[in-house]
Amino acid sequence: MAWGMWRSADDGADARAILHRLETALECGIDFVDTADIYGFDGANGFGRVEELLGDALRCDPAMRERIVLASKGGIRPGAPYDQSALYMEQALNASLRRLRTERIDLYQIHRPDLLTHPQELAEFLDRAMASGKISAIGVSNFSVPQIETLAGLLDTPLATIQPETSALRIEPMINGELDQAMRLGLAPMAWSPLGGGRLLAPQTKRELAVAAALDTVAETQSTSRAVAALGWLLTHPADIIPIIGSQSPARIGEAVQAMQMRWTRPQWYSVFAAALGQPLP
Ligand code: NAP
Repeated sequence: MAWGMWRSADDGADARAILHRLETALECGIDFVDTADIYGFDGANGFGRVEELLGDALRCDPAMRERIVLASKGGIRPGAPYDQSALYMEQALNASLRRLRTERIDLYQIHRPDLLTHPQELAEFLDRAMASGKISAIGVSNFSVPQIETLAGLLDTPLATIQPETSALRIEPMINGELDQAMRLGLAPMAWSPLGGGRLLAPQTKRELAVAAALDTVAETQSTSRAVAALGWLLTHPADIIPIIGSQSPARIGEAVQAMQMRWTRPQWYSVFAAALGQPLP
């Protein structure tokens, strides 16, 4: 599992609070940390704020840097809104390294595809970044199956990860070929918003209520919570999905790892899938 920092600047957390969350995650066995240069951006200000916050936390506790696997993202440029030209990406990567106060990003991900950059130009930038030692692995997020296929084919470095939105409320990657492609190419699929951004905990629509009820039925049999069941459901898929825990509450980060203990029968797993699909399975 990974811990995600998208919401880390939302509650006014300082470097000490971030360190506390990191320590909690590490104590639970989560050492994979996902951030992005755009996190903290509120539509007008704040580009880079969450990376800065993490950089401040790493300055307070320099030993922390080697205890975590640090993943960040670039390629969203407010106003553009996407720019993956080599010139811009070079600047974006260097700025991320500066803010994070590190010489190396362990996993650098392209956040969303830029339709106006030729994938060859992007691949060459990423291979150069690998060769320079500024990044140690390459991932993509929100790329379609053909976009992943194309970039992977042009890179000298094997692509390491994909990051689609995946949850019991967003099952598309399980049926549109994204997870099949990940299994075929040996890519690690990271799931963003694994609790539907919190909607699974506060369901509103008929479909959300049905999925929540299906999760509750299984959670009750294993004396656990709906949130844990939602994560356990993802972990059961054979693609080895890595849910990115979005909670900023140390108690909830701690609770999330209980999902690794869950065992699902096929009827239980498919009952949640059918609720998400909105129709009985043939
Ligand atoms: P999520 O886990 O689906 O949702 C987290 C939200 O649910 C938080 O606001 C959390 O509040 C709330 N929540 C309510 N009850 C909870 C409970 N019982 N347990 C846990 N959380 C509960 O994840 P997310 O924050 O939307 O996304 C996770 C990560 O995915 C992000 O941090 C980011 O790293 C990544 N992401 C990537 C993309 C992309 O385009 N690649 C987009 C979005 C997100 P509390 O904090 O109060 O617990």
